[in-house]
Amino acid sequence: MKNIILLGPPGAGKGTQARKLVDERGMVQLSTGDMLREARTSGTEMGRKVAAVMDGGELVTDEIVIGLIEEKIRASHGAGFIFDGFPRTLAQADALGAMLHRSGQDLSAVIEMRVDDEVLVRRISGRFTCGNCGEVYHDETKPTKKPDVCDVCGSTDLRRRADDNAESLKVRLMEYYKKTSPLIGYYYALGDLFTIDGLAPIEVVSRELTDILDQQSAT
Ligand code: ADP
Ligand code: ADP
Ligand code: ZN
Repeated sequence: MKNIILLGPPGAGKGTQARKLVDERGMVQLSTGDMLREARTSGTEMGRKVAAVMDGGELVTDEIVIGLIEEKIRASHGAGFIFDGFPRTLAQADALGAMLHRSGQDLSAVIEMRVDDEVLVRRISGRFTCGNCGEVYHDETKPTKKPDVCDVCGSTDLRRRADDNAESLKVRLMEYYKKTSPLIGYYYALGDLFTIDGLAPIEVVSRELTDILDQQSAT
């Protein structure tokens, strides 16, 4: 059973690749961004607190996201987790290591998806998702086949995220470079790091990723 982390700035393609691995390999995607977006619509105290933070582009507190992940790891079915957008701080990385250790698991690979900053702006400003099934699209690089209809489920509920604007992206990039990018060195030192070119087309990135996963099972 393999647990992997997809590490990269907003728009690197983490969610897109995580969904492919779920479809192709039956792995379990744990996206803290998705969990937090769900929490904010729940009308709870926690939901209200995170909404403002997310819209501004800052990181939600470590305590909240670690709590969300811990629940999911406990309810694990052992299919292999894809951590998507978590960890994002050194404290979260330490906590993840401890949580996996406690449940008798470990990490197979941390995959850094490298993408130029100018491309991220284009990726984020063209992104939209299906509100029903979660499929991720892009105005230029991955449009729907029929206008305004999801290819996967046929829903017409296509949405853009409130934080996918230039203003919030600036803050998100700064958060990434200040708080998340040190994890590249952290996982390199642990011997878990792989780097792939996130600028390649979706299918090419996907192949590189599955090659790394298969390589891991061979050892
Ligand atoms: P992106 O697709 O841009 O990488 P996500 O969907 O992963 O963004 O996250 C959206 C927002 O949710 C972040 O800007 C942040 O406010 C919050 N968030 C998600 N994951 C975490 C995390 N691990 N730690 C702190 N905040 C998080
Ligand atoms: P993240 O989860 O890292 O924030 P997403 O998977 O949501 O990133 O991708 C951001 C945007 O870029 C989406 O609109 C997606 O369709 C598009 N995208 C993802 N991967 C690629 C790629 N390799 N080439 C071109 N566009 C991509
Ligand atoms: Zn859909």
